[in-house]
Amino acid sequence: MQSWPSPPIPGIPGAGRQLRLYDSATGEVRPTDPGPTATMYVCGITPYDATHLGHAATYLTFDLVHRMWLDAGHQVHYVQNITDVDDPLLERANRDGVYWGKLAEREIGLFRDDMTALRVIPPADYIGAVEAVDEIAVAVRQLIDAGAAYRVPDEQYPDVYFDVTTSGHFGYESRYDEATMLHLSAERGGDPERPGKRHPLDPLLWRMARPDEPSWDSPMGPGRPGWHIECAVIAANRLGPVIDLQGGGSDLIFPHHECSAAHAEVLSGKRPFARHYTHAGMIGLDGEKMSKSRGNLVFVSRLLHQGVDPMAMRLGLLAGHYRQDRAWSDEVLVAAEERLSRWRAAAGRAGADADGVVEAMRERLADDLDTPAVMAALDAWAADDRLAGPAVAAAADALLGVRLI
Ligand code: ZN
Repeated sequence: MQSWPSPPIPGIPGAGRQLRLYDSATGEVRPTDPGPTATMYVCGITPYDATHLGHAATYLTFDLVHRMWLDAGHQVHYVQNITDVDDPLLERANRDGVYWGKLAEREIGLFRDDMTALRVIPPADYIGAVEAVDEIAVAVRQLIDAGAAYRVPDEQYPDVYFDVTTSGHFGYESRYDEATMLHLSAERGGDPERPGKRHPLDPLLWRMARPDEPSWDSPMGPGRPGWHIECAVIAANRLGPVIDLQGGGSDLIFPHHECSAAHAEVLSGKRPFARHYTHAGMIGLDGEKMSKSRGNLVFVSRLLHQGVDPMAMRLGLLAGHYRQDRAWSDEVLVAAEERLSRWRAAAGRAGADADGVVEAMRERLADDLDTPAVMAALDAWAADDRLAGPAVAAAADALLGVRLI
């Protein structure tokens, strides 16, 4: 799948720092320790609705990771998927009377435009589930052959499920107890009540073809892949069996990342699948969680259409810490716009060497992406007329992705 163009990334003097990041599997902020090429997989969108600010906050988080690794001298191999065939997409297409493939194409186009405007560095591999169906089917077959997957005894639809007990440590990624896992599974697209499953938490690997649903031939018969195996296979086949980071929103901690880790680990025999599982908080609107069911989503494309500067959106979302659930409001946007204009006014000025500000930015970002502290450091720089602008402006561009000049 075509990705989007990369923003230019200016080189900045001085040495990058080793990035420390929170890992959901251990509950600690730990150093990332990539080799010459850092490997990162971030779960992509299901393209049935435009990019809202919650999505944007997630992709901006991992964009900062990407930038910190580049600054520290690593190459970064970044892979992102698009779940371009799944129940919510098909339901929306049915509701609106549009062909599901057309809906996906249109929403992916919007997403690309939003990411370009927000200056998010694109993935090297941007892979749709539809493009990857064959390789996913191969993996499902391997799991069946290994005794880690089975068909439910359903005469009409003998769908294939993964046996979570075969992973040996299911639950390590989320660290949730079974009651929480059961609750979240039911809430987030799982089917713990389905008759014939060995364990209620067993996730779907291959859904046999239903009337009026798209399907693909496979060794299991015609059907389509489950969501968790999609990400496990797309990531492992491009980045290897053990990756530096799997990222997404905090609503993906369970079941999605738990299950995709279990799939990848049983397939490869290696663990952990990801050295860091890192999750971005949710964005609310005026004190309420932003969600499709509440109908209060704020779309990036709509703000762009209203003339909002994408760099102000970026600053507004980065003003809070990535792990915190936080609110978006008109006040947040206005504060970001004012901050952006103060920084822009300072960006070109002559003055004393401000390399210390650049080093402070690196230091704060290396500490689990402490963007609120970076904002404070740059506010202090902008307010100090004695300090020069250009070096800090270049660092804001390279490290924060915020273009000031
Ligand atoms: Zn995923």
